[in-house]
Formats: sequence, structure tokens, C-alpha cells
Amino acid sequence: MTADGSSIGGLQTTAIHAGEKPDSATRASSPSIVMSSSFVTDADTPFSAENLQEQAPFFYTREGNPTVQQLEQKLAALEGAEACVAFSSGMAAISALMLHLLKPGDHVVMSDVAYVGAAELMNGLIPGLGIQVTRVNTTDLDAVQAAILPHTKLVHIETPCNPIVRLSDIWAIAQIAHAAGAKLSVDSTFATPVATQPLRLGADFVIHSLSKYLCGHGDAIGGAVLGASAEMLGLRHLLIHLGGALSPFNAWLIMRGITTLPIRMKAHEENALNVARFLEAQPQVKRVIYPGLPSHPQHELVSRQMRNFSGMIAFQTHNPVAVAQAFAEYLQIVHYAVSLGHQRSLIYYISTQEMLETSFTLNQAQLADYRNFAGDGVFRLSVGLEDAEDICADLEQSMNRV
Ligand SMILES: *Cc1c(COP(=O)(O)O)cnc(C)c1O
Repeated sequence: MTADGSSIGGLQTTAIHAGEKPDSATRASSPSIVMSSSFVTDADTPFSAENLQEQAPFFYTREGNPTVQQLEQKLAALEGAEACVAFSSGMAAISALMLHLLKPGDHVVMSDVAYVGAAELMNGLIPGLGIQVTRVNTTDLDAVQAAILPHTKLVHIETPCNPIVRLSDIWAIAQIAHAAGAKLSVDSTFATPVATQPLRLGADFVIHSLSKYLCGHGDAIGGAVLGASAEMLGLRHLLIHLGGALSPFNAWLIMRGITTLPIRMKAHEENALNVARFLEAQPQVKRVIYPGLPSHPQHELVSRQMRNFSGMIAFQTHNPVAVAQAFAEYLQIVHYAVSLGHQRSLIYYISTQEMLETSFTLNQAQLADYRNFAGDGVFRLSVGLEDAEDICADLEQSMNRV
């Protein structure tokens, strides 16, 4: 199950060709979907997952599947990883990596602002296993350093983070983690390999929710972890026992989506830049956070770490509850819905108070930093691939009802 990890050419060529070979039986040019749950085996094939080797033949689809493996090889080539393990969702990927790396008595340092599911996992389930969790604002390198303890095994960051599009410095945090004998995992869902390749910056693991830009069309959920072969083999053992295997059909849809990832990301970036500039000029809008704008507070880090600004905008408005109501009621093109990275534009209001009650555990200084980006609440806008002027007009006609 090792991917060859080498790219085939430029990023767009790699996105199209890596992991895909014409089918040897039919000579079909496009990948087929292998939906079989079971594979005909030799009599001496080992039955236990514990005996699974990297190059094992296919046996049962929870352990490995030809279509899923093609997707894993494509992702590994795009991230410059030795190997990849695909999961049924981004959360299945994150939770499996945590359980693979952390044992009772270990300590993990994590971004104080992260995808709600990851934040909530680290509120209850992970501490319940006797694993100590410290949350820090990972944009502050001194705070990351100060949070490291003798038993720290992992630093987990999300950059840019959901929902406020704040960056963390992967290279610098890798130095801090490695000096302490800890590993660094990076949730790079917002960036995609088109913008940032965390492993090349020193991270040990990169995580993706494939449900977002990689699939790109809002019709399949999946996740992945990428890293060194030996670690990924251990993670695959865990996947086999936890059971969060990706369906071959979803793998096929996601693989099809990835073939256009680099050109889609260029279009997302161009559209998002137009929409961000439009929003900055609106009287109802108080603040716009977009990595492509010079007004992003971390513009220097953005230019060092992101080759593409992606399509995620966070913005604050006056009277946000009424604006959210107007968006939900009157938007015609943009969908008022969660998720992101689809061809369709999506917007969702995230109330600071609600996040504090349900998901985030922030101290006073962290809360002040969060409010700096999000105020009382923030609109998370995933700029899709429609014509930018139509997206702007739709936002304008809805906001003007307030
Ligand atoms: C959506 C998301 C996840 C969770 O992925 P699912 O595929 O929905 O389980 C994790 N991290 C980030 C940054 C996300 O945006």
C-alpha cells in the first residue's frame, strides 16, 4: 500500500495521473470502481489484520481496496508523502490518528481554534482516556513552546483554521515539537496541497477532510492521513479495528474531483479575492479576513506558507443575527449551509457565544484573540466557482434587506 510518493510532473499533471493506470484487464483509460467487499485469496493468506503487510494482496475492502488505494496514491503524490491512509470522513482520520499516537499519560498540544468536531473530540473523549490536552493559540510560538511538557507526544495544528482563517507557522512549530521529541500533525483541509505541503515544511502528518476542496463537488465525505510508511501501516491496523473505511464509490468520486484540484483552486482563489474586495467595500461589513488580502493580519506568513490563498473568507457584519436571517431567507445562488470547498458557494454564521458554550475552551487571552478575528460572530463564506459578480450581487441583495 505504499504510494510511490514521487510526482509525475507538475501539480496538475500529478493530480490527473498519479495513482491512475489504465485498467490491465479492460484497458479502460479512466479508473473503474471496484465495489467488491471481498477478494479471492490463496489458501495461505493470513486472516488477522495484525499480519497485514505493506504490499499485501487485497483481501477485504475494510483493509484495502483497489479504488481506495488509487486515491491514496494520488494524495500521497500531491503531498510528497511516503504513504496515505484514507478514511470514511475527516473526523475518522483525526480520531484514528489521535488514538494511534496517544496513550494514557501522554500529553497533546492543540490549536485553541479548530474545526468544531476536532475541538469537541479533545474536550471529552480524548481527556477521558487519560490523555492530557493543552490548547494554545498556535499563532503565538512562545505559547506553543511554553505549553510543551516532558510527556508531550504530539502538537496538532490546523492552518488556516476553521472558521477564522488564521494561520499557524508549520516550519517553526515543527522545530519546537521535534526539539521536544514530539510529532507535528497538520490539518491542511483549508489549504489543500495546492497551497501548502506541510510534510515538506517539517510536519510528520498531514490530515485532510476529503469532503471539502479535494472532492470539490459536495457529493462525497472522506478523510485521509499522510506520513511515513511505517506510521501509516500502524494507522491502517487501527483503521481495520475501528472500522472507518472509505467506500470505494466515494473514493472514486473524490479521485475524480482531485483531477481538477489545481485549476479549481486557481479559480476559487480568483473568485474569493474578488468577493473579499467587494465585501471590504460594503457598509454593513465590519471586517474581512482573507489570506489574499493585504489586510490579513498575518500577510507575511501567508506569503511564506501559501502558494494559493484558497477560497475561504471570514467576515464580520453589523447586526449579524439579522444578516444571517436575511442570508438564510433571500440568498438565491449562495447556499446557506455548512461545509466548504464545493463548486457551489456556501455561507454559514458562527456565533462566538455558541462556540464557547458547545465547542471551544478558551482562556481570557485566547478569547480576546478569537474576538479580534470573529467579534460576536463570523460569517464563514466558502467562495465557489460561480461567476464572481453573481456571488457578489447575491450577497448584496440579501444584505440590503436588513
Ligand atoms: C470539515 C472539516 C473536518 C471534518 O471533516 P469531515 O469530512 O466532515 O469529517 C476536519 N477539519 C477541517 C478543517 C474541516 O473543515
